[in-house]
Amino acid sequence: KEELNIIQGALELRTKTVEDVMTPLSNCFMIHIDAVLDFNTMSEIMESGYTRIPVYDSERSNIVDVLYVKDLAFVDPDDCTTLKTVTKFYNHPVHFVFHDTKLDAMLEEFKKGKSHLAIVQKVNNEGEGDPFYEVLGLVTLEDVIEEIIKSE
Ligand code: ATP
Ligand code: ATP
Repeated sequence: KEELNIIQGALELRTKTVEDVMTPLSNCFMIHIDAVLDFNTMSEIMESGYTRIPVYDSERSNIVDVLYVKDLAFVDPDDCTTLKTVTKFYNHPVHFVFHDTKLDAMLEEFKKGKSHLAIVQKVNNEGEGDPFYEVLGLVTLEDVIEEIIKSE
């Protein structure tokens, strides 16, 4: 029954983590901080269909900003505006969460906060070097809701 699935899903919010439901980094549509917002780049962004696009510097694991598609409203592709100009202007905060954050806590954070997207990270202390933050993917409110209403 549908209702039972939803209750089941809601109960699982306490045990499942953001890592269980996130979109892994390799599947994330992102944009390089040095991109120029010409016709091609803007078309790619539009065609991706995503509303929020993480911005990275050098490596995909180094996320420095988030571009909202609505930030592009005043950008003319003929001006070849740099992405940096746009992100500096809007200056959206990037929201990070740890990979083992439970979905109920994540839901609360999404409800409180303004952003419905968070970057999932963990502390990597494998190997010889110093521990470092490793980005694993992104999670949105949609991923949490999906966990509640999914039908098996
Ligand atoms: P909205 O529905 O608010 O317009 P959206 O369609 O861009 O936003 P969500 O609905 O929040 O995105 O998420 C839908 C799915 O897409 C989720 O699984 C989420 O993890 C994934 N997702 C969101 N943004 C990206 C992105 N930039 N790259 C890859 N996957 C993404
Ligand atoms: P996003 O979170 O993807 O940036 P958004 O902030 O435009 O999108 P939602 O997050 O979907 O919008 O909705 C936030 C709240 O604003 C909801 O309560 C929704 O009903 C309301 N809302 C959305 N669009 C409008 C609108 N055009 N006029 C009035 N209220 C709106």
